[in-house]
Amino acid sequence: MSLYFANARIFTGDSAYPWATNMRVVDGVVESVDSEPNPGDVLVDLEGKLLLPSFGDGHAHPIYGGYEFLGPQLKDVDGVDGIVASVKKFALEHPDSEWIVGGSYESWLAPNGEFDARWLDAAVSDRPVVLRATDYHTVWCNTRALEIAGVTAETPDPKLGWIVRRADGSPMGTMREWDAVDLILKHVSPYSLDDQVRAISIACNEFVRTGITWVQDAWVEPEMIEAYIAARDRGALSIRFNLALRADPTTWRNQLSWFVDARNQIGTSPELSCSTIKFFADGVIEGATAAVVEGYSDDPHNHGMPVWDWSELRECVAAIDALGFQPHIHAIGDEGLTEALNAIEHAQRVNGEASHSRPVITHVQMLNPRDIPRFVELGVVANFESLWACNDPLQSELTAPRIGHEREMWQYPIRSILTSGGAISMGSDWPVSSQNPLECMEVAITRMVPGDTSIEAWNPAERISVIDAVKAYTAGTAFQAGYETVWGTIRPGLAADLVLLSDDIFTIEPTKIHTVTVERVWRAGNKIFSHNDVS
Ligand SMILES: [Zn+2]
Repeated sequence: MSLYFANARIFTGDSAYPWATNMRVVDGVVESVDSEPNPGDVLVDLEGKLLLPSFGDGHAHPIYGGYEFLGPQLKDVDGVDGIVASVKKFALEHPDSEWIVGGSYESWLAPNGEFDARWLDAAVSDRPVVLRATDYHTVWCNTRALEIAGVTAETPDPKLGWIVRRADGSPMGTMREWDAVDLILKHVSPYSLDDQVRAISIACNEFVRTGITWVQDAWVEPEMIEAYIAARDRGALSIRFNLALRADPTTWRNQLSWFVDARNQIGTSPELSCSTIKFFADGVIEGATAAVVEGYSDDPHNHGMPVWDWSELRECVAAIDALGFQPHIHAIGDEGLTEALNAIEHAQRVNGEASHSRPVITHVQMLNPRDIPRFVELGVVANFESLWACNDPLQSELTAPRIGHEREMWQYPIRSILTSGGAISMGSDWPVSSQNPLECMEVAITRMVPGDTSIEAWNPAERISVIDAVKAYTAGTAFQAGYETVWGTIRPGLAADLVLLSDDIFTIEPTKIHTVTVERVWRAGNKIFSHNDVS
């Protein structure tokens, strides 16, 4: 099967040959660019529109995102009242659900992100309700859920996490970080395999309609391996995935054999692979759990909550690097970032020649400028969720007040890493925030809130060009994935993974990029999305 894409404005991403107007695709692979058609080619007239390599999302949570569609709708609702109404409606429509589980709500809707169990009790009091916040480090539950979990005024805070309390010590209904969140979630019955496959299939649709054809699943628990294999076997994977298995700070030594088994079970095809290990170095600034060198401005004795003992993190990163896995480290605070870099440096020192992975640090939020050159020196890919790099309420209400002005300006140094010669990639952290690469790129380019030009550009010295943003979302994520010879640029020999846009993002006003729509998407030459089919 040969296709001739004609009359297009093609950005190839290949620096030797960045622009073209037509191309041939044979059996799913780009055969030539700016060449003549062959007899028998099927003509695809692109009407002068912009064609790009399709996008890769370097950090997302497909199954959790899919689950959100299986519970009450909490996004795009009107404040706390809207969430409560949505939970009530779902409960009435699902009288047999033992637990009502939902996600995800915006933490800034309540003062300090502290939500009260009684607000949910007003909607549902006879059945347990638990909702995840968009940071996925926090839950809000009703009184029935606290009762089932046995959490009372006498329950001590766990080691990693805390129970938000009222003045009398009783639990308020908000639980922060892993161990506290687990006090509630361990009572929820797990999703069935069918529900997990449904969640993956929903996620595929959500990604593909925004032009994404590869996703780094950044948090895979053991049961999800079966779900991905089942999804593949049932033909439910319309896009490519790489899976990151989560390393646990206390049990990681026992996990090593599982890591290897899971990789063997999944295989190493570019369609579905399992070559990465996920670490959480720390938490998040808005919850005051990111590990920071100087205390939080509003709580100077609090230095956050490192998830790992740092010497254990170094040992674990070295151990998985020696096994040929790629580390993918969540690091948000300046201490968390320094220690993530230290762990990678340690792994390279002890493993020497055997160290061949392409390490990734994700989020790269509050980076001490001193550490910028270390990304190039150590060959670390900086994965940015650039949608967060603007002065939205999460930043202005919950983040900036906790760190003060100097450290506020250290956040998301995308341009600094790029100009220092470091490799960058992009991602969304969906369902934490929108998966739409056009919104995420707009913020990287403008540092402004999409659709709200009344808020000034934030830390504008870190803005990047449209070309650099597109490359970070295409060739940059392909490099992160280790698949730069398979997809990510439009070049002879690479897969025809392509996205056609409604408008030319290189020439329109940058603050309009989020309004551009995806018209068609191809993966390996097969058209897997057309906006005509959905409207
Ligand atoms: Zn994440």
